[in-house]
Amino acid sequence: MGPEPVTERLWERQRRELIEAIRERGIDDLTVLRAFDEVPRHLFLPAAVHHRAYQDAPLPIGFQQTASQPSLQALYLQTLKLEPTERVLEIGTGSGFQTALLAQLAANVYSIERVRELSVRARAVLDQLRIPNIALLVGDGTIGWSKYAPYDAILVTAGAPGPPQALLDQLSPTGRMLIPIGDRDTQVLRLYRRTDAGVIHEDVTDCAFVPLLGRFGWPAQS
Ligand code: SAM
Repeated sequence: MGPEPVTERLWERQRRELIEAIRERGIDDLTVLRAFDEVPRHLFLPAAVHHRAYQDAPLPIGFQQTASQPSLQALYLQTLKLEPTERVLEIGTGSGFQTALLAQLAANVYSIERVRELSVRARAVLDQLRIPNIALLVGDGTIGWSKYAPYDAILVTAGAPGPPQALLDQLSPTGRMLIPIGDRDTQVLRLYRRTDAGVIHEDVTDCAFVPLLGRFGWPAQS
């Protein structure tokens, strides 16, 4: 037996353990757990952190950025309650792992990343996995992607001083947006929902994301 199947089996075992850890943190939506089973996280990470790929931890991906903690990504997905027919916008492609998870749960995924190298790397892995329903853009996600709006859900995976109005404007009439709001180091993950009575919000959990840099985020140099 060659080394490749052994490695695959090891990844699979570690993936199951990660799913168990996510479940223990209160995620019980089977469609979300299944998505974690279908997407190999290690492929989205630099080789230097491969051995930690299935730990429930944020991991460095270069350019002073991180791949988010899997259980927190699962919380995003469970909170948004995505339908298979829905259209989703993600701000902060990063490694592309969460983008791939979203593609298992929604019809179309649009994802914006400001660091070109990260977007290029994510595109290569998504192509390798032949995930078809994802469009990537390099640019400032705080202004959204009006071409494909409105979106049923918007996920922002970096911390903002407040909710960018441009993103709220690109939500569908029943759209919801998850975004960390706070200072540059610590935030609260906030769910905004469009209703007939206007936009309402509730806090989901405390969190600590890298800053959302851009026109309606934090200034890049400070
Ligand atoms: N979900 C990603 C993952 O697990 O790999 C999260 C990546 S990281 C926590 C947040 C990402 O947001 C970084 O890659 C960063 O470059 C990106 N980012 C920050 N400000 C941005 C902006 N205005 N537009 C697009 N991406 C931005």
